[in-house]
Amino acid sequence: MRSKIVAGNWKMNKTLEEATALTSEILKMVTDEVSSDAKVILCTPFPYLLPVKKQLDNQTRIATGAQNCSEHEAGAYTGEVSAPMLASMGIPYVILGHSERRQYFGEGGSLLAKKVDVVLKHGLTPIYCCGEPLDVRERNEHEALVKQQVEESLFHLDADTIKKIVIAYEPVWAIGTGKTASAQQAQDMHAVIRKHLADKYGQATADSISILYGGSVNAGNAKELFACADVDGGLVGGASLKAKEFVEIIKSIS
Ligand code: PEP
Repeated sequence: MRSKIVAGNWKMNKTLEEATALTSEILKMVTDEVSSDAKVILCTPFPYLLPVKKQLDNQTRIATGAQNCSEHEAGAYTGEVSAPMLASMGIPYVILGHSERRQYFGEGGSLLAKKVDVVLKHGLTPIYCCGEPLDVRERNEHEALVKQQVEESLFHLDADTIKKIVIAYEPVWAIGTGKTASAQQAQDMHAVIRKHLADKYGQATADSISILYGGSVNAGNAKELFACADVDGGLVGGASLKAKEFVEIIKSIS
């Protein structure tokens, strides 16, 4: 059975004080109110990973994740953070290929394949994001683009290794816009991704990979989205910055 996961992507938000307060609130509510065994991941800015991890140290329900890392393991790359650094801090997850990284930092398929490899080499789990911009959907080319994004950064992996990846389908037109994909649109794309994985790796492998939906998930729409057969949880941006709403989203997973 694949894991159900709700990951919060804090992006470049919060002061340290606000980040620790948010973590405390989420931790208390998850401990007191959440009965499912869904994995919860807080993907914080780099400087907050250790303090947040320390707050979460005596429990196993909530883990930490980074939002990016370098394709290099070490060296003269000023301002970058490496997978070995994250591993040495005990950070288990890292988001790779978020559309904001693709759009503002020019990240593409071959670079992301290198990042996937270095992250896996150091024992972290990549949360690999894919998804189409609005014009691509309007031209009805979204399936082809998302299949290509999955292929170019993941299909060099063997079947045992690809099982270690989490995929997040995030239509770019739904990220931070308040416009969510309908449950049907999300399910259709998740099924396309799973079939693509099955065609390459076999159904059993495809069935073991968690595929999260991201794009304006909130407390009002999470239940319907998470009820879709191929949606295994969510990658949540804006709504993960509000403890109560984020925990309501976590509760929407059954
Ligand atoms: C995201 O940043 O991955 C995201 C899905 O953002 P939002 O939930 O704000 O649309």
